[in-house]
Amino acid sequence: MKTMTCRQFGGPCDLAHRGETADDVIKAQDQHLKDAEKAGDTTHFAARKEMKGRWLHPKKSMGWYREMKQTFADLPES
Ligand SMILES: [Zn+2]
Repeated sequence: MKTMTCRQFGGPCDLAHRGETADDVIKAQDQHLKDAEKAGDTTHFAARKEMKGRWLHPKKSMGWYREMKQTFADLPES
């Protein structure tokens, strides 16, 4: 298991997501941003907007996706 925080995804807080793969933690971050939006948390608004844009433009977002996968791969197991 590895841990990646909301901040490592470009978000505003230090909430940690744990997962076996990069996809797991990306999904957890996506859910976290959705929950924050639902809760009316404006500090996560920009990050949520960016994440939404990524799903709409998957090709343009490949760079970001690779970067997140690389960041995850470089993390120590915990
Ligand atoms: Zn957050």
